Amino acid sequence: MSVVPSPAPAPTPALPANYDRKFPAPDEEGVTDRAVDDVVSVVPSPAATPANYDRKFPAPDEEGVIDQAVNDVRQVLDSVVDPEIPVLTIADLGILRDVAVSADGQVTVTITPTYSGCPAMDAIRDDVVTALRAAGYDDVVVRLVLAPAWTTDWMSEDGRRKLADYGIAPPSGRAAVRGVGAPSAAPIPLALSVRCPQCGSLDTAEVSRFGSTACKSLWSCRACREPFDSFKVL
Ligand SMILES: [Zn+2]
Repeated sequence: MSVVPSPAPAPTPALPANYDRKFPAPDEEGVTDRAVDDVVSVVPSPAATPANYDRKFPAPDEEGVIDQAVNDVRQVLDSVVDPEIPVLTIADLGILRDVAVSADGQVTVTITPTYSGCPAMDAIRDDVVTALRAAGYDDVVVRLVLAPAWTTDWMSEDGRRKLADYGIAPPSGRAAVRGVGAPSAAPIPLALSVRCPQCGSLDTAEVSRFGSTACKSLWSCRACREPFDSFKVL
């Protein structure tokens, strides 16, 4: 039995005495490599997710792991839509207020109902639990937070666009003044023309304060003569 000697490692070329990492001489062998190594050593590498990352039981001491676990939960919750307006997710509507994941795998989802008159909230709570269970999360707590009250200001830009595409005029204007400093806690909607989601005309008129649900009012468009729902500013 013969032992084959492993080849000796190639000697690292000595750096010239006048080595300048900012202006390496590329013709000197190994000098540019060394300059690259010097740069790599000062650029912090992003916090890597540990190989044993478990989205359900993230180790809170590992930097960035809890964030990733929360993002994973948010992705699952992107499948939970408003029962009345199924093109809008609860994140689009601003109903989804917070997601937390504890080290022992408990998922806490905080939601705020659009307003007390909307009976959809029980359905949404059930849908949140069902979606997360289906994705393998067994320990789910849904917290209902009523204050501060939901406002259409929380609807995302993405949500407003989807709403218009769906044929419902998004809330126009901002609830803006509310609570602090305001004479009453009630939001003061700004009266603006509502744009017709069908043809884009601003020549529209309110027909009824209440549309297909209490959240919406019924409008008609003088340009295209189509009636449409408008999401109230709340
Ligand atoms: Zn129109």
